[in-house]
Amino acid sequence: MALVREKNGKRLHVKSQLMGESLVGKDLYDGMELAPQTRLFPDVDVIKIGGQSICDRGIKALPPIIKELAAIKDSRKILITAGGGTRSRHIYSIGLELGMPTGIIAKFGSTISEQNALLLATLLSPWGGVKIGHDDVVKLHTYFATGCIPIMHGMPPYDFFAIPPAQGRLPLHRTDVGTILLANLIGSRSCIFVKDEKGLYTDDPKKNPSADFIGEIGARELMKRDLVDLVVERPCIEILQNSEVLDRIQIINGMEEGNITRALAGEHVGTIIYRE
Ligand code: ADP
Ligand code: MG
Repeated sequence: MALVREKNGKRLHVKSQLMGESLVGKDLYDGMELAPQTRLFPDVDVIKIGGQSICDRGIKALPPIIKELAAIKDSRKILITAGGGTRSRHIYSIGLELGMPTGIIAKFGSTISEQNALLLATLLSPWGGVKIGHDDVVKLHTYFATGCIPIMHGMPPYDFFAIPPAQGRLPLHRTDVGTILLANLIGSRSCIFVKDEKGLYTDDPKKNPSADFIGEIGARELMKRDLVDLVVERPCIEILQNSEVLDRIQIINGMEEGNITRALAGEHVGTIIYRE
């Protein structure tokens, strides 16, 4: 950055491409030079363990998943995130009934996903499971070098500053969004959502048994379809479509043993949503 002196010779300014810009102009990027986004941890796999779909099933779902993650950890660098689930929905309902603002409801969600992160870290502790915070993300190399499996809560840290949605007061950006944002931040090798259905359907298969399975779909196409219900939080699709470093997300069924290993091996299990 060059230093420039004002014409009257009194003050020095740092000359930059953004000097004097409002940063909201529609032509801001016209002719601007910017480097492609650096992939900070391109060999790390980000895996979200669902809250409602997996953690809440406790002993009925977690032991085989823990076994699988423990077996994978020496050959892959896995960063795990935790969803919130039914306890989040409980406190969300109470909060909504009592008139709580979005920011309080989001903060409730963070604490529940932290509980699940602690649960997963405790179960994985014999194999190096450690619960980490958002600030620890730059220490990932150190965690992997020492054989750890880092586990983070999935809620993005908007908390009190969560953006109020157009309708209602539930935060739009919950643990699926936190997970894809984390994957995008670090430029991870993959971003895998472990849930309790085969993947994405045309509708919620629990409510509509005639819903059709979608094995693969582009993000733009999926946004265009505007399905009545989705297997991941809606903003994830747009975040993927706008990402410079992620080209897909994968949704797999964690109730079927071996699916996490298969997905990490590049097999097409579940649904792949790709950036178009
Ligand atoms: P998590 O536990 O990861 O937060 P959720 O329970 O919030 O997961 O979301 C997964 C659930 O979404 C599935 O169990 C399924 O019942 C439901 N769902 C809603 N719409 C769809 C859809 N179009 N395709 C597949 N699952 C869907
Ligand atoms: Mg969810």
